[in-house]
Amino acid sequence: MHQGKPMQTYDIAIIGAGAVGTAIARELARYQTRVVLLEAKADVGMGTTKANTAIWHTGFDATPGTLEARLLRRSYALLEEYVEQAGIPTERLGGLLVAWTEEQFHTLPRLLERAHTNGVTDVRIISAEEVYRLEPQLNQGAWGGLLVPGESLICPFTLPIAYATEAVLNGVTLKLNFPVQQIGQDEEGAHLVTGPGGETIKARYLVNAAGLYSDEINRMLGHHDFTVTPRRGELIVFDKFARRLINHVILPVPTARTKGVLISPTVYGNILLGPTAEDLDDKTNTATSETGLQSLLEKGRAILPQLLHEEVTATYAGLRAATEHKDYQIRLHAEQRYVCVGGIRSTGVSASLGIAEYVAELLAEAGLTLQPKAEFKTYRMPNIGEARPRPYQQGKRIAQNPNYGRIVCHCEKVTLGEILDAIHSPIPARTLDGLRRRTRAMQGRCQGFNCRATIVDILAKETGQDPRFLLALDGQDPPMPFTLPQPDHAAEEHA
Ligand SMILES: Cc1cc2nc3c(=O)[nH]c(=O)nc-3n(C[C@H](O)[C@H](O)[C@H](O)COP(=O)(O)OP(=O)(O)OC[C@H]3O[C@@H](n4cnc5c(N)ncnc54)[C@H](O)[C@@H]3O)c2cc1C
Repeated sequence: MHQGKPMQTYDIAIIGAGAVGTAIARELARYQTRVVLLEAKADVGMGTTKANTAIWHTGFDATPGTLEARLLRRSYALLEEYVEQAGIPTERLGGLLVAWTEEQFHTLPRLLERAHTNGVTDVRIISAEEVYRLEPQLNQGAWGGLLVPGESLICPFTLPIAYATEAVLNGVTLKLNFPVQQIGQDEEGAHLVTGPGGETIKARYLVNAAGLYSDEINRMLGHHDFTVTPRRGELIVFDKFARRLINHVILPVPTARTKGVLISPTVYGNILLGPTAEDLDDKTNTATSETGLQSLLEKGRAILPQLLHEEVTATYAGLRAATEHKDYQIRLHAEQRYVCVGGIRSTGVSASLGIAEYVAELLAEAGLTLQPKAEFKTYRMPNIGEARPRPYQQGKRIAQNPNYGRIVCHCEKVTLGEILDAIHSPIPARTLDGLRRRTRAMQGRCQGFNCRATIVDILAKETGQDPRFLLALDGQDPPMPFTLPQPDHAAEEHA
């Protein structure tokens, strides 16, 4: 027990607030259940979910018959509705998979057949002429391509915050800075989940959505059926001037190991080149490397030579939760009332809603009663994408509140109004990184060189934090556990 505090009891504890854990929390919030979402870091969506390629995959190239293929397909349909309702920035550009060799060209019919088997039926093979009509800036030498109209762009920052916000608004307790350290059981078989300072939470059912650490949580429950190997993917972000170079997501022919290096626009108007695929030992190593970036530049030059003349805004790396298995490691251990959601390697942002729905089904199979709530509160997120008007472009809004006309971050055109909204949102930004992902502030050309001091000042004043603390913290997690204040649906307290 934590310093004399009564133990909190829930129906379900979810470990990990990435795209997957937050989607599961939102899904379970539809039902009359008491749910707690436990996250080791200071905010939601700070694991692999914040450092990926941000493609909303159709699943056209997934291995038919796998759970991944099935859940990607289901998720695509669910997301189509959700992104509209919640205002998630997306762009439905379509993907163009380019065959650069005769051998790759001959694999296109197989990929087409695979797409059809996976239910993605609008895919078609196109000639080299059509490839260049659609993408005139591509390097010479393409043999042909596969057009995948459904492949789209999505904002991986807004998505988990949106899921978590709807979860919290519908009664889920979110505990941040709560790294789960130990899991035991009481005499009735309920899970006792212990975090920092010995604080323990009791839950009848447990969901493990801990991403890179899902194998370690799984072992705490006595299961050794997979090991996560962090597979690093490095990426280069090019300046917005590069955006004019392409009209689609330019995909390579995938291999068994990776989807390969692609060139894609982002919803923020940049161009991404990446990712690499390199297995590491260290689950915390998100540094970029000279060799990784150099190999990307060579691949980029071969696909889109003009790209190499454009300015680079930033580089980053993310770690895929790869395992020795080819499919997601989603397993129900009904006798333990435990669902493991591990090995969500390269497609978890896209598959998140499908996974969440499936996990709810598994929990019901294990005996959880899922009685729908009379009402489910929805939430519309602030728009940080380029496809719809941003606040600085909305005259009426500025007339009502001049803060939406006061630009603080000039590179990304982020206004004071948006920064204040993010600081006072249902899941508030409490760090510079939290503000970056909610508003785009400090993400542009100057990477915060010009606006960071002003933003630190605003954040410090609004939250009562020491500006030196915020600066020192940038990129790290605050040291104290933090539970969002709950409205009227707090967990029952048991002495
Ligand atoms: C380079 C790269 C490119 C990718 N491109 C795409 C793409 O284009 N489209 C796509 O759909 N997917 C893509 N992915 C995959 C996608 O990013 C992941 O599948 C997805 O983010 C996984 O989400 P998650 O919630 O399982 O994991 P995470 O986002 O890592 O979340 C797990 C959470 O669990 C928390 N946690 C861990 N241990 C504990 C503990 N002990 N206690 C409490 N909390 C804990 C972590 O802090 C973390 O926040 C890509 C991945 C990479 C690396």
